[in-house]
Amino acid sequence: MNFQNKKPLTTGFLQSVNLMYDRAVKLLDLPEDVAETIRVCNSTYEVQFSVRLRGKLHSFKGYRSVHSEHMEPAKGGIRYSIEVNKDEVEALAALMTFKCALVETPFGGSKGGLIIDPTAWEPHELEKITRRFAYELAKRDLINPSQNVPAPDMGTGEREMAWMADEYRRMNPTDMNARACVTGKPLNAGGIAGRTEATGRGVQYALQEFFRHPDDVAAAGLSGTLDGKSVVVQGLGNVGYHAAKFLSEEDGAKIVGVVERDGAVFDPKGINVEDLKAHLVSGQPLCAFPGVEFTENGALGLEYECDILIPAACESVITYGNAHRIKAPLIIEAANGPVTAEANDILLERGCTIIPDLFANAGGVTVSYFEWAKNISHIRFGRMQRRQEEARSRAFLEQLETLLPNGVDASIKRQLECGAGELELVRSGLDDTMRAAYVAMREVRQAHPNCPDLRTAAYMVAVRRIASVMDHFTL
Ligand code: GLU
Repeated sequence: MNFQNKKPLTTGFLQSVNLMYDRAVKLLDLPEDVAETIRVCNSTYEVQFSVRLRGKLHSFKGYRSVHSEHMEPAKGGIRYSIEVNKDEVEALAALMTFKCALVETPFGGSKGGLIIDPTAWEPHELEKITRRFAYELAKRDLINPSQNVPAPDMGTGEREMAWMADEYRRMNPTDMNARACVTGKPLNAGGIAGRTEATGRGVQYALQEFFRHPDDVAAAGLSGTLDGKSVVVQGLGNVGYHAAKFLSEEDGAKIVGVVERDGAVFDPKGINVEDLKAHLVSGQPLCAFPGVEFTENGALGLEYECDILIPAACESVITYGNAHRIKAPLIIEAANGPVTAEANDILLERGCTIIPDLFANAGGVTVSYFEWAKNISHIRFGRMQRRQEEARSRAFLEQLETLLPNGVDASIKRQLECGAGELELVRSGLDDTMRAAYVAMREVRQAHPNCPDLRTAAYMVAVRRIASVMDHFTL
């Protein structure tokens, strides 16, 4: 696969996460025993199970790792990929712990994975495999609304979450909170509006907030707003697609490059994201997309000249091997762990600003939190207040119109007349979360002259919050 740098990694994913954690802890006045307690992964469950398919038994291996239970349930996605391994799942679980703390979702960190190529199986076969995996996890409370709540990740989506939720419900028919056992479900199975777009939407809100701070923008060697900025996106999956779509359609950014598994396409005039996505979804190869420059070597796409680089695929794609060739002055980590610890240092030395994964891709878990809260409260957001808000706005507008000779502008009127539904509230809650988290990182960075970057600041904010929760424990 072109995404991976073929040179062997000198630091593995888990090692990278631990290095970044250690760096932040050094700047905090944290007792060593507390630092070690937070750092270690609490447990990793490894399961091997067989499913009868195509006339014989097929064996699958999966993991569910719980990094921290300082708050419960522990939260984090389940990944389907042939690359899944214990180290990867543990690194991702640790990132979930810190991510949840940074964006103030009241969860511990967890992650799961199944070693499988999901494209090799028919949907009815995947359903059998997923239900069996869910059963193995649920009977050990590794799927449970109050203990451990999975969500989608690479290779999984709302379909898999619906199967898992249904399997849990069958096993626990009297649990009135059964729907809260996983998030990222389809709307008609207890999901929430805006969950599918959430991680990409979060990347957009993260960038919007970054551009609200001219000092930070200037430090990255950029100026102005998102309007007209050139962007390269690596991975046009759920996260990359939504981020690229919103940035180009709503903020005026120009998607000049898209990197995929089978190569990369470039167009300095800007690529239409919807057209490219439709082309790929219809099963056509990237190289057949018309009107753009194509290269088979996708890794080169990361090195393309642009203002903002968005790695939105998998971990460890920017490494010691290619970091010195990256030209983007600003990288926003839509994927988990796309920049290794060594690459991080090379990029920092070269003056590159990195908006870290803990923050940048936290939109997914933030909206998962809203979904979980909706499921345990058994009521859709906005149901109580929407019409009441509308009635108040209407009364206000009527009064205003009697005072203004030309009345109220029609578009403003439309906006004010419409009370917020679930989607508007979800987006508003996500925007608020991303703004608050950025400001928290920024303040810590400014308060610590030795804090080298936003990533260290993000870890510092998260670790401090986790430590303060642990203060109240009897360990
Ligand atoms: N898999 C996503 C992540 O890495 C979402 C996790 C969740 O919603 O629990 O953040």
